[in-house]
Amino acid sequence: MIKKLIRKILGTKSKAARDANTPVVLGPEGHGIDPRLLSNNAVRVTSTLQEAGYEAFVVGGAVRDLLLGVKPKDFDIATNATPEQVKRLFRRAFIIGKRFQIVHVMFGNDLLEVTTFRGTTSANAPKDEHGRVLRDNTFGSQAEDAERRDFTINAMYYNPANQQVLDYHGGIEDIRAKTLRIIGVPEARYREDPVRMLRVVRFAAKLKFSIELETGAPIKVMAPLINNVPAARVFDEMLKLLMSGHALACLQQLRKEGLHHGLLPLLDVVLEQPLGFKFVTLALESTDSRIHAGKTVSPGFLFASLLWHQVLEKWEAYRAAGEQTIPALHLAADDVLDSQTEKLALQRKIGSDMRDIWAMQPRFERRTGKAPHKLLEHQRFRAGYDFLLLRCASGEIDAEIGEWWTDFYESDEASREDLISSASQPAGSGAGGAAKRKRGPRRGGRNRSGGGRGGEGGGSDAGGSPSHDGGGD
Ligand code: ATP
Ligand code: MG
Repeated sequence: MIKKLIRKILGTKSKAARDANTPVVLGPEGHGIDPRLLSNNAVRVTSTLQEAGYEAFVVGGAVRDLLLGVKPKDFDIATNATPEQVKRLFRRAFIIGKRFQIVHVMFGNDLLEVTTFRGTTSANAPKDEHGRVLRDNTFGSQAEDAERRDFTINAMYYNPANQQVLDYHGGIEDIRAKTLRIIGVPEARYREDPVRMLRVVRFAAKLKFSIELETGAPIKVMAPLINNVPAARVFDEMLKLLMSGHALACLQQLRKEGLHHGLLPLLDVVLEQPLGFKFVTLALESTDSRIHAGKTVSPGFLFASLLWHQVLEKWEAYRAAGEQTIPALHLAADDVLDSQTEKLALQRKIGSDMRDIWAMQPRFERRTGKAPHKLLEHQRFRAGYDFLLLRCASGEIDAEIGEWWTDFYESDEASREDLISSASQPAGSGAGGAAKRKRGPRRGGRNRSGGGRGGEGGGSDAGGSPSHDGGGD
């Protein structure tokens, strides 16, 4: 039926004559998508579905990216086949999801999400007391499916078979004008799903699009609704944001929109402190450049960075109250992780990575005997070391310590012994980070000791080179 509809309007739709039930249809010359940017598996899924008599399109972010000339990182497929019907067509296909059922189709390690066109949200769909839609799994037409998507630029359908793009909400125009525009009444869409406010921020920062006035206007007022969203979903969206390659821009935008309060409690406080701000900025810059270089980023490292200055503050407080350095650090880590888990549902693995990275920090101060060798063997040494370099670069601790560790890390065994014997350990330096911290930024010890192996310049280059995938994963 939809095909007939499309045929009817093919080539006859003008910009002005748009309505939400009939798409503007663009051929290859109109949209300019380079078919080489499409993955073979995406084409495999759409053509398998089409050969079985169903409609099937690439949809959402992938179409947006194709139109922008960017190779999509993953492909979502929309179809009029039900999840059961989809599952039957593929050897490795799994129906997942409670809130929305979707099918995961796997080819090797490649995963494609196949969703059945969704119907309009019915008025009696179950909602929480703030109006957030809890469950809504009704199927519908493609036009209805388009209307339920978040932004105009995310609501287009591409059929690889005939290379046509179907655009129900003026997405093409918005792509060209670099505008992020929500579909429907913004307030209502944010109420249904407050996570869309985070998505506005992510896409604006990532695509460098401007937020259309009405789309942006309600966010400041409606931001607190994020608090009612289940922690696991907020976490997923936060992770997408932080891994977008534009984490710094996203965080700045979140602050601007007043959205950071609900996300990482006390992050606003951290960002107010000059050292905390510098540290987070450097960490995110480094993350962004790793993503752009196609390297991995560990969520544990990211969250350990975002929350470090909270840990530092509590660490000092516990020490001031008479705790020993190491137990005080663990208590501080517990406090911070506990306070974040509620909001963010940090997965256990991520939490333990964070703890490892933090717990390693005082160990970098011990540069005598066997201690440095032992630390070097730590499973997460690389992550801990990269973290140390960020602390140096942010001015929290002396750059000298980072330089020493860079030399030590890059040296052969003989030079390592020299480094250990030349390490100028002030007597009784067991006081750890607090003592260092009080010495102020980058005082003393600026000269590189050791043989100048032309490394990455220790902490001063934290923006580019650190590899914080923590090894081993
Ligand atoms: P990315 O490139 O970051 O993956 P994306 O647009 O593909 O961006 P996804 O989270 O993968 O984002 O979602 C796929 C599509 O599903 C979106 O393009 C959009 O059409 C729709 N969508 C996702 N989340 C929502 C939401 N909260 N509300 C409405 N539609 C959504
Ligand atoms: Mg996607």
